[in-house]
Amino acid sequence: MGSSSADEVVAICRDLMRFDTSNYGDDSGPGERAAAEHVAGLLTDVGLDVELIEPRPGRMTVIARWASSVSGRPALLVHAHTDVVPADEALWRFPPFAGEIADGYLWGRGAVDMKYFAAQVLAVVRARVRARRPPARDVVLAFVADEENGGRLGARWLVDHRPDLFEGCTDAIGEVGGFSATMPSGRRLYLVETAEKGVVWVRVTARGVAGHGSMLNTSNSIVALAEILHRIGVHQFPIQLTPTTRQFFDVLSAELGRDFQRRDPDALLDAIAPLKRIVGASLRQIVSPTLVRAGNKTNVIPSEASVELDCPFPAGPRGRAGRLGREVSRPGRDL
Ligand SMILES: [Zn+2]
Repeated sequence: MGSSSADEVVAICRDLMRFDTSNYGDDSGPGERAAAEHVAGLLTDVGLDVELIEPRPGRMTVIARWASSVSGRPALLVHAHTDVVPADEALWRFPPFAGEIADGYLWGRGAVDMKYFAAQVLAVVRARVRARRPPARDVVLAFVADEENGGRLGARWLVDHRPDLFEGCTDAIGEVGGFSATMPSGRRLYLVETAEKGVVWVRVTARGVAGHGSMLNTSNSIVALAEILHRIGVHQFPIQLTPTTRQFFDVLSAELGRDFQRRDPDALLDAIAPLKRIVGASLRQIVSPTLVRAGNKTNVIPSEASVELDCPFPAGPRGRAGRLGREVSRPGRDL
């Protein structure tokens, strides 16, 4: 790729970052439609046909099919999401939606998740279409909304309502799945994603007796919730090797000349330190408290306190957590 395409990647990424495509889990995000229209413009600009899909006002996805020069081959899906998780501006060195360039970096929400990839795809496709270099197989380009809240109005919606758009696709390239890790030997392992973790969201509600904060109260819902949170926080779920993680660790052990120790997976995980957070999370059930709700006045003890738990479980059919998933999988269900 020449420098002009590289420059275009940065420019496109910057422009995309300036659309505040925060996904709040409802339809209140301000920017998905504007970002989608911008992406559509970048594609139609070079002569590609696009389809804009908007299951609910503002929740817009862009699809284009870039036709190949060779017939009869299966198609490839290349997809990115345009939404981002919300950003608290106070915590940012640069405003999250300004797309500032400083110290040789482009700063802002979406820089790594995942407007950079959308920008790379757009720049490459635009350069090749302009140079009249079609792909050797049809490429379906999808820039989807609503990934950060489960994709119900993005990828999921397309699968349920518009499978025709993916006609002939046998492979897909999307987010992540491709980090590399340098081994102590200097060799590089290229990780390929072979499975996805499942996820269960759970809401736990502790109930007590409401009352005035100045009175004796032995049934304070917040205290009860704190005990639950503490137990969750210190609990270590057992290691579960599913077929896909077992295979991964077989390769890693062979590379490092060291066995996988069920009781001490860190010995191997430390060798891939930058990826430890990700790979380590594939070995066991994770339960992360993410949202606590209780009370609305300093001198009133509330009758209820609740926590929402993000509970990803290991990929594969056999995990014990998979069973947990089936038992409590309705989001928002009280336990
Ligand atoms: Zn993402």
